[in-house]
This record gives sequence, C-alpha cells and structure tokens, in this order.
Amino acid sequence: MDGSVPAPNDLGAYWMPFTANRQFKAAPRLLVSADGMYYSSHDGRQVLDGTAGLWCVNAGHNRAPIVEAIRRAAGELDYAPSFQMGHPGAFRAASALAALAPVGLDHVFFTGSGSESVDTALKIALAYHRVRGEGQRTRLIGRERGYHGVGFGGISVGGIATNRRTFGPLLAGVDHLPHTYDRTRQGFSRGQPEWGADLADALDRIVTLHDPSTIAAVIVEPMAGSTGVLVPPRGYLERLRATCDRHGILLIFDEVITGFGRLGAPFAADRLGVVPDLMTVAKGLTNGAVPMGAVLVSGAVHDAFMQGPPGQIELFHGYTYSAHPLACAAAEATLALYREEGLFQRAADLEPVLEEAVHALRGRRHVIDVRNLGLVAGIELEPRPNAPGARAYEAFVRCYEAGVLIRVTGDIIALSPPLIVSEAEIGRIVDTLRDVLELVT
Ligand code: PMP
Repeated sequence: MDGSVPAPNDLGAYWMPFTANRQFKAAPRLLVSADGMYYSSHDGRQVLDGTAGLWCVNAGHNRAPIVEAIRRAAGELDYAPSFQMGHPGAFRAASALAALAPVGLDHVFFTGSGSESVDTALKIALAYHRVRGEGQRTRLIGRERGYHGVGFGGISVGGIATNRRTFGPLLAGVDHLPHTYDRTRQGFSRGQPEWGADLADALDRIVTLHDPSTIAAVIVEPMAGSTGVLVPPRGYLERLRATCDRHGILLIFDEVITGFGRLGAPFAADRLGVVPDLMTVAKGLTNGAVPMGAVLVSGAVHDAFMQGPPGQIELFHGYTYSAHPLACAAAEATLALYREEGLFQRAADLEPVLEEAVHALRGRRHVIDVRNLGLVAGIELEPRPNAPGARAYEAFVRCYEAGVLIRVTGDIIALSPPLIVSEAEIGRIVDTLRDVLELVT
C-alpha cells in the first residue's frame, strides 16, 4: 500500500468532516492500513487503537471472516434495488440482528448510517401515530448534550449547541430534557452514578406543560457517548420508560455507540434493563467495515403499519443503499464473529480492568473527572482558560505521536478500545495518556 503523504497541492479537494481542515492539512495524520488493535500510519508507525475507529471496530481491524464475506459478496451481487426487490442476504442479516436484539424488537429497517437511522426512527414514530389515528402526536423530545447524528431530525432532537446553531431553523415542536451530568454530585463515579434519577422527572414536567396526547416520542442515548461519556444515573431510564408508558409516548434509544457489546452486553437496553420501542444502531453492526445502520422496531409499532390493504406501501421511506448486499454480508459475518469469540462477555470481563486503570488518573494533572461504563471511559480535563478544547486536543496529538489513538470531544477524552483489547493494551493506552498529561500545558 502506498503510504506516502499526498503533495500539499493534493490535499485541497477533500473537505474533511468535523475537522479543522487548515490545521489538519498543515500536519496531516494519515492511516494507511490496520490489523487487530493497530493502525499503521503514513510515516510507518504503529498506532494502538484506543477508540475502535469511531466507536465502531468492536472486533478489531481487518478481521478475516468479515473481509472474506465482503469480498465474496462483491463478486456475487454488487447491488440490488432496495425498493420492490430483495436479496437473500438482506433477510438473513435482518433475522440475525433481530435474534440478537432485546425481546420484542423483532423488525429491522436498514439504513446507511447512524444519522439515517435516527431520522428513520423519528419518521417511523411520527407515522406510527398517524396510522393509528393519533396524528396530533407530532412533538419530539430529545435531551441536552444528546448526539443523534447530523440529519435535520438528528440535530433538532440533539442537544449539542454547535451542531444546531450553525444551520438556522430546525424542526419545530421539539423539547429537550436536561442532560444527566453534574460533576459535583457524580464526579469520579464508577459505573452508573447513584445521583440523578430525578432528572427524568423533567419529562413529566414537559408532558404536563403540553397536552400529553401531542407527544410522539422521546429519544435518548442510553449512555451519551459523543458528548463526553455521560453515564445514565441509576433508575433514570426506568423512569423515562414509565412516563412514556403512562402517556402512550414511544421511547427511542439511540444505540449507535452502545450497541454490539460496548457496554458488556449486546445492547445498552440489555445491560441497563430498559427496553425501548425503537432502537437505532450502526457502527459496530458491520464492525465499521461497510457503512450500514438499522432501526430495530417493536412488534406493536411494526404491526400498526401492516393493517392497510396489502398492495399499499406501508412506510413511504427508504434509501438506495438500504440493505446493500456488501453491508448485509459484512453484518452477518460481524454478528457471527461477535458470537463465536464471545466478545460481549469479554467486554464485560474487561470492564473492571479499564475502570481501575482510568480511575488511577484521579489526582493527575488537569484531570477533573473520570467516569466509565462497559468498555468506555471518559476523562475530563480542566479547560485551558479562554481556550476550551485546546488542552484535550493537545493530549490527543501527543498521544498519537506516542502511538496511541484516543478521542477528544471538547475537553473530555473518550476511550473505547476494540473489545479484543488485552489487559496489557488497556494498560498501555492509559499509561500513555498519564504520561502525556504531564506534558500537556
Ligand atoms: N447517534 C449516535 C449516538 C452517534 O454516536 C452517532 C455517531 N457518532 C450517530 C448517531 C451518527 O452516526 P453516523 O455518523 O453514522 O451518521
């Protein structure tokens, strides 16, 4: 593989997402190959992947069964129309996913990404109420600091200010729950914080403020990832579920990050014991190897659409690349690999190892909080005065130079290694971060 850096005049065409393009192009970091726990960089270094790519490569990189399945599919059926036509792989992948999902989430609508899954789930929720004659239920409820991708639906229910205020009017009729993080009450908590279940009472207040029969759905990440690892307080999700049940409101879990073993169980719904009506997934569904997302739908929601005349299109929605043959092959192989290698249990077994390692950072320079759940940890740094995010970004660059990939969001460092990580590799990731924090200004 050609690992050379493109000439400076070749860097211009690619407008990179969520990146300070001019800063990046002045000192590009290019990854040219990957294997297991490691990336290789353009300058010939091995980089230990502390983030599973972008929370997606749960089985580690370039796994032979997945590569082989994609290769085989590409040579067999490159593409099949996703409307009015099918292919066997789509039905097999959907069945495999439904079999893994929490009991009751039996139906699968495929998409091409997490963002598409979120917009699909919101549209299914709105259409569900309409087909049942409750078309007045149009209000959607998200949460502050929620990340639900970048579609207009996702940024409307999402609660990350910079995702919202750049783009003008968003969906009308959206309310936001307060986020679930309070450092003074939850700082340095291990696993689920004890404080904060009451925050779910905000949903009752919103429901009281509006006529409850105008509310379609509540969407939350069971554990907020991209916004900086906000672990749900004990009892919080249970209360959201109860309020939704009382008022006929659909509960949507966005499990794009938490799905596929990240929390030591197939889904956060399993780990945390609360099952939603709709669940969005992506990322780990194909181990990141081919873009794919899905919405898992309860029997009750699905069946409401199946009451009209059989010739009717039940849901006027879909994507050219829904159930793409290569993605379906990758998903089938990925789910089989997770099962064969017992990777979700492995994540559960490693949780205490990661927990001990990251909580040993307490008291280190700049560290103002550490939190963790499953194979995810968040380490929050004191922001540099007048330069929010700069300190964590410096840590990110220094870790990369030391051969470890971490992820930063604002001044929060997120660790989420592939589930194949060894105890020694967890040690190396956290040791590198600890050493780097001594150098960060
Ligand atoms: N929802 C959540 C919870 C996510 O974390 C992400 C991506 N980080 C998305 C949605 C969007 O997924 P994608 O980038 O595949 O569109």
